[in-house]
Amino acid sequence: MPAAPVDLSVVVPMYNEQEVLPLFVERLRPVAEAWGVTYEVLCVDDGSTDATPVLLQRLRREWDAVRVVRLRANAGHQAAISAGLARARGAYVVTIDADLQDPPETIGEMLHVAREQHVDVVYGVREDRSSDTAFKRVTARAFYRSIRALSDVDAHVDAGDFRMMSRATVDAVNSLPESNRVLRLVVPALGFPSASAGYRRAPRAAGDSKYPLGKMLRLSIDGVTGFSIAPLRFATWLGLLGGVAALVVLLYAVVAMLLGNTLPGWTSTVVIVSAVGAVQLLALGILGEYVGRTYSALQARPAYFVAHDSLELEMPTPVTD
Ligand code: UDP
Ligand code: MG
Repeated sequence: MPAAPVDLSVVVPMYNEQEVLPLFVERLRPVAEAWGVTYEVLCVDDGSTDATPVLLQRLRREWDAVRVVRLRANAGHQAAISAGLARARGAYVVTIDADLQDPPETIGEMLHVAREQHVDVVYGVREDRSSDTAFKRVTARAFYRSIRALSDVDAHVDAGDFRMMSRATVDAVNSLPESNRVLRLVVPALGFPSASAGYRRAPRAAGDSKYPLGKMLRLSIDGVTGFSIAPLRFATWLGLLGGVAALVVLLYAVVAMLLGNTLPGWTSTVVIVSAVGAVQLLALGILGEYVGRTYSALQARPAYFVAHDSLELEMPTPVTD
């Protein structure tokens, strides 16, 4: 793997953050200068329609660590982070919100933890969520509960998208061809060694949340459907059960007719209705299985990631000039 040109990339997704951007820069810059490592600040403008792009162009001239990527249209928080991860060049990459809810001061600690403890991922874990609304706390808890119940991803309940990742982790994330990545589930699912750094979740420094209820719901649905085919399995079983029940009704109608206690025409009607129902429901169940398989194939997640391979170590190192 070629050496990373910078030690640390800071990926910042921004959607209409004109109010908060100057505050963010003012707070990040002195912190960054004290890290004592080479770094880049990769701002991903997620199709902002306010002055964010103008402010970013200005910033780029004032601070040469800044790189700007602008998406054509609003693609969403996760997609914006993905765009940043694909372009980040650092040996470590941290993703942080622009609204100062994630303190830039914690980045230095994350870097320290990553290097000292030799871990690939350092999750920022909210120790105090009192700045979040009760609604946000309740919905977040429900979200992680259902994810844990439906899939086997061990996502931290109080971790969001403030996290540091090693180059190997970022490469692994970038190699996933799926487009609806819910990173807070994808990253733990990769299984890299991890640690956490606690922080206090501050209130938004300025501007309004760019996460209306609709976007939050979208994230939850992407999370559940991305990591579990349990809902589909449920539909499959329902189809199979319904099909069997329809067959039982059919048998009952035939037996009742043979015993002679039915009205004329009743048996043929019930037999036709339940036969058609049984065939449809059974077929739906089978279809569900194939749809599930097609879906996993489309996601094309690698079946494993190699942590370490002794064969690789024994290979002669390539000569470079
Ligand atoms: N964001 C983004 N695209 C979106 C929505 C949000 O890039 O479509 C960014 C936003 O600018 C911020 C981060 O994602 O840097 C988190 O968003 P926000 O603070 O609005 O979410 P909340 O903290 O309210 O959940
Ligand atoms: Mg926020």
